[in-house]
Amino acid sequence: MSLQRIIIHWTAGTYSVHDLDREHYHFIVGGDGTVTAGIHKPEANLSTRDADYAAHTLHCNTGSIGVSMACMGNAVEQPFSTGPWPMKEGQFKVMVAKVAEMAKHYGIPVLPTTILTHAEVEPTLGIKQRGKWDITRIPFRPDLVGHKACGDFIRAEVAALMH
Ligand SMILES: [Zn+2]
Repeated sequence: MSLQRIIIHWTAGTYSVHDLDREHYHFIVGGDGTVTAGIHKPEANLSTRDADYAAHTLHCNTGSIGVSMACMGNAVEQPFSTGPWPMKEGQFKVMVAKVAEMAKHYGIPVLPTTILTHAEVEPTLGIKQRGKWDITRIPFRPDLVGHKACGDFIRAEVAALMH
């Protein structure tokens, strides 16, 4: 048994990290770029048969590390509006660095099936989610639209940091 993938989220909240975020994700990057560790260690998600694990992705928590960015509260997918707490570029860069560090530490390859956003879980892994659109928009890269464009961009950034 090993940790097989990293799933990237936003909290759909403010730039602050709250206790509920710490319950659901292994790491959360605040709006100021500070990384806060969750209550559960990544290893807690090796098994989800007990209650001690971070529940961040419906039916896809076993072997999955959850990294999130505190932002995008009150954002609207269509027509797109960032809301009052748009994802910041600095915050995004810290997330990329954290994902690269985790990928290296746990030997997780940078592939669409192993490092992916929450929005890619349904189309890529075939595990139905409830309308989750994190991350199909990156406010400072408005040219990237949709789960594939954003996911590919994130993977390229992670891979660039690792090499
Ligand atoms: Zn999510």
